[in-house]
Amino acid sequence: MSTTGSPPPTVADVVAVLERRYPPAWAEQWDRVGLVLGEPTTVVRRVACVVDVVPETVAEALTVGANMIVAHHPLLLRGVSSVAPTTYKGRIVHQLIRADVALHVAHTNADVANPGVSDALAARLGLTGLRPLHPPAPGSPAHGEGRGIGRIGELPHPMTLAELTRHAADVLPPTAWGVRAAGDPSRVIRTVAVSGGSGDGFLADATAAGVDAFLTADLRHHPAGEHLAEGGPALLDAAHWATERPWLDDLAAHLRATLGVETYVSDLDTDPWSVHAASPPSTGPASPATPQENHTPAPGATATTRGRTAPAQDDPHPAVDDKEPRP
Ligand SMILES: [Zn+2]
Repeated sequence: MSTTGSPPPTVADVVAVLERRYPPAWAEQWDRVGLVLGEPTTVVRRVACVVDVVPETVAEALTVGANMIVAHHPLLLRGVSSVAPTTYKGRIVHQLIRADVALHVAHTNADVANPGVSDALAARLGLTGLRPLHPPAPGSPAHGEGRGIGRIGELPHPMTLAELTRHAADVLPPTAWGVRAAGDPSRVIRTVAVSGGSGDGFLADATAAGVDAFLTADLRHHPAGEHLAEGGPALLDAAHWATERPWLDDLAAHLRATLGVETYVSDLDTDPWSVHAASPPSTGPASPATPQENHTPAPGATATTRGRTAPAQDDPHPAVDDKEPRP
C-alpha cells in the first residue's frame, strides 16, 4: 500500500492490514478478536499499541492523540449484557466512543502468526533458527508456513539456567515480578522454547521438543513441579505482560510500514503484580544451589513440596510424590 500522496488511512484500512497479518480465522474458538468498537470511516493518523485495554493505557492513548488502539488482550472476552458507564469495562467503552477512538484486538491470531507474539519474545532472548512449539493441527486454518503457538530456538551461546534467568530479566521489559526459574541453576541451556502469555498448557510440548528450558508466564505450582519431576526442561516464569510487550514493536513497525501511520507503543506495565520483595539470604545450610535433581531434602530442610503425602482437598493436581521417580 503506497503512503505517498494517498489520503490518511481509515479504521477500515487499518483493520484490513491487521486482518491480513493476523486473520481472525487463526484465532482459537474461545477467543474474541477483531474490531471491538469504532467507526470504520474514521481517519487514523496515530495508532496506540497496548497489551491490555485498561483505564491507564486508554488515558495514555487519549493523551498522545491516538485515533485507534490495537490491543493484544480482548476487552470483552465473555458475553456482556451491559456496557453501562457505571461498570469498569463500560466506562472504557464510553470513553473510547466519545473520543472517537477505535479499538481492535489481535490475540491468539497474533500468537499463532509468523511472525507473531513469540517471535518478538524469542528475538529479545537472541534465539535463532526459530520453529513453532505447538503447530496448529493439520487442516486447521492457521496450519503451515512456520505458524504455531510459541517458538523454539537456539541461544547464541550456551549458558547456565542461572545465567539465562539473569539474561531474560535483563532483556525483557522491566516488571516488579522479574523472572524466576525452576530447575538446577547450573544446568547448561542451549535450546529454549518460549511462549508469550500463559504457557501452562504447552509444558508437554516443551518436553516433547527436548528443549533445555521453557520460558513463559503464569506457571502454577503443581503443573510446574510435576513437569520438573518428570525430567522436563527447566522453567522460566516471567511476567505475563513482559512476554507480550516485545510484540508491540513488531506490530507498530508493520503499521508504520504498510499505512504510514504514526504509532505509540505503551510501556506501561499492566501486569497485576506490582510489588516484589526478595526473601532475606538464607542463614541455614540449605543452599539455593542445591540441585533440583536430588530427591533427598536439602540438609536442614524440614519440609519440602515433595515431602507432601496427600494433596489438599480441592487440589486439582496430585502431589508429585505420586509420580514415578525420574530417570
Ligand atoms: Zn496474554
